[in-house]
Amino acid sequence: MGHDSEHDAVLETVRRLCAGFPGEYWRARDRERSYPTEFVQALTEAGLLGVLIPESYGGSGLGLSAAAAILEEIHASGCNAAAVHAQMYTMGTVLRHGSQAQKSQWLPKIASGEVRLQAFGVTEPGAGTDTTAITTQAVRRGESYVINGQKVWISRAEHSDLMILLARTTPRDQTTKKTDGLSVFLLDMREAVGRGLTIKPIRTMFNHATTELFFDDLEIPADCLIGEEGKGFRYILDGMNAERILIAAECIGDGRWFVDKARAYATNRVVFGRPIGQNQGVQFPIARAYAQVRAAKLMTYEAAARYEAGEGAGEEANMAKLLASEASWAAADMCIQTHGGFGFAEEYDVERKFRETRLYQVAPISTNLILAYLAEHVLGLPRSY
Ligand SMILES: Cc1cc2nc3c(=O)[nH]c(=O)nc-3n(C[C@H](O)[C@H](O)[C@H](O)COP(=O)(O)OP(=O)(O)OC[C@H]3O[C@@H](n4cnc5c(N)ncnc54)[C@H](O)[C@@H]3O)c2cc1C
Repeated sequence: MGHDSEHDAVLETVRRLCAGFPGEYWRARDRERSYPTEFVQALTEAGLLGVLIPESYGGSGLGLSAAAAILEEIHASGCNAAAVHAQMYTMGTVLRHGSQAQKSQWLPKIASGEVRLQAFGVTEPGAGTDTTAITTQAVRRGESYVINGQKVWISRAEHSDLMILLARTTPRDQTTKKTDGLSVFLLDMREAVGRGLTIKPIRTMFNHATTELFFDDLEIPADCLIGEEGKGFRYILDGMNAERILIAAECIGDGRWFVDKARAYATNRVVFGRPIGQNQGVQFPIARAYAQVRAAKLMTYEAAARYEAGEGAGEEANMAKLLASEASWAAADMCIQTHGGFGFAEEYDVERKFRETRLYQVAPISTNLILAYLAEHVLGLPRSY
């Protein structure tokens, strides 16, 4: 966010809004595995999910660091932005590569909340992290594309109207480069479910509304294609850097929450006649977690600034996600330990946040793959896979 007072005002709105969604709200959703509809509604009405949409389309026209700060604050408040963050990280693909017609058709409706863009369909069971090995196919037939295949771990598909979908328009063995022949579509799921698209929820260790998708001769209009056919991998990569920065910001928020929660508990809990936080064995892990979170935050906002300035942000976005997800996990572990037995009690929210923040070392990209990227592309070491 360029302007400090603008920044503060937005974050104040986030804090006020989040105060209306305390631990009990999230515990109930977690228990029922239900989508936080009221929370999403409140964020939408406050205009917070449309911050990246240009003002001419009804959004606030802010940059990625504003979006990151909003997600960080949501997580620092004890809430969880996993129900909504895809609208932010897919936005770059639509803004940078979508046609004028696509932007005019969808952006004002997304900004107003009439239409939700919360699903991002990349991962497949047979490909995993090796994205270019995906086999979901989109075949051009007249004014349509016909889609067949399967996706896994596609979050929020049941609670989104639109999906950004990556599919092969040319089989991998017919391309010179394996990154060619992939295309991106902006698909209206309301018209697709029951006409070739089936959505099946996957139950996970936390409340993430993730699903499997099955495409069986789903026909979509050809004008759903974003940008040029066969160039989709490049469009998606750009979006993935934004996603890594935004997820890193959520981890920073989680880390702040764990440090705060531990600090408060260690100050108030008295054992052996003194606050447990008076023992260095308890206070040092809290101090260390604080330092780790602060350091990861610097990298995260440096990555966001580079992304906003249109400079290459691949290195920084990857390091931000790596450092922030490890810092939040270390803080989570410290927070459980500080709380002793009460860390495991549902009503303290620590165990819920602990489960939630663990994801980010695996998704949207796992730590090993980030290390491989840094080793190969930044440090020039031999390619390992
Ligand atoms: C809750 C949840 C929500 C998700 N939401 C979405 C979503 O909305 N959209 C979407 O498209 N995807 C989503 N994903 C998928 C996520 O991006 C993938 O799970 C992640 O990229 C890892 O892929 P994989 O699970 O297939 O693991 P794999 O690729 O099978 O990897 C398994 C393990 O092996 C390691 N590994 C693999 N290859 C190498 C190598 N060459 N060197 C070293 N280590 C290696 C990995 O680091 C990992 O630890 C979600 C996943 C989860 C769990």
